[in-house]
Amino acid sequence: MTQSRSFTPSSTVPANQMAATGPGDRTGCPWHTVKAKLREVGLRPTRQRMALGWILFAKGDRHVTAEMLYEEANHAKVPVSLATVYNTLHQFTEVGLLRQVAVDGSKAYFDTNNSEHHHFFIEDQNDLMDIPSSDVVVGTAPMPPEGYEIARIDVVVRLRRKR
Ligand SMILES: [Zn+2]
Repeated sequence: MTQSRSFTPSSTVPANQMAATGPGDRTGCPWHTVKAKLREVGLRPTRQRMALGWILFAKGDRHVTAEMLYEEANHAKVPVSLATVYNTLHQFTEVGLLRQVAVDGSKAYFDTNNSEHHHFFIEDQNDLMDIPSSDVVVGTAPMPPEGYEIARIDVVVRLRRKR
C-alpha cells in the first residue's frame, strides 16, 4: 500500500527534521531513530510503520491502546485504519519493540518501555503507571506445567481512590 499524503508532525520536532526520510546520519532525530529501531529488529521501515513508530516512540515511556494510537495518528493526519494500527502494534510487540500489558480482557495496553518492570493500574482512570522491577519481590513462582518454562512474570497492582 502506498500513501501519497504526508502527515504533519506535532510541535515537538521542527518540521525540517521530519523531512529526513532519505539517507542521512543525523543523530538525535526521532525520525532517524525510529528508522534505525525498525532496521535493528528486521522490520522494513514502511511509511506506516515509520509514522506510527514516530508517534509511539517520540514521547518517551508510555502506555497506549490501539484506539489511543489510532486517535493520535488521525490527529497527526496519518492516514491509517484501526486494523493497521492493531497489526503494527502486534508486529512491534513480536519483535520486542513494545511490551503488551494485559490489564483486563477488553483492553490491551502496549508499553514503549520494553525493559523489565511492573505496573500500577488505576481502575477508575484506566491508567497505567510503571513500578520499577526492584520494587516488587516475587516470592515463590508456581511450577510451570510439563514442557513449559516461565517467560516472565508481570505484576499488575490495581489501585482505587481511598473512600
Ligand atoms: Zn510500563
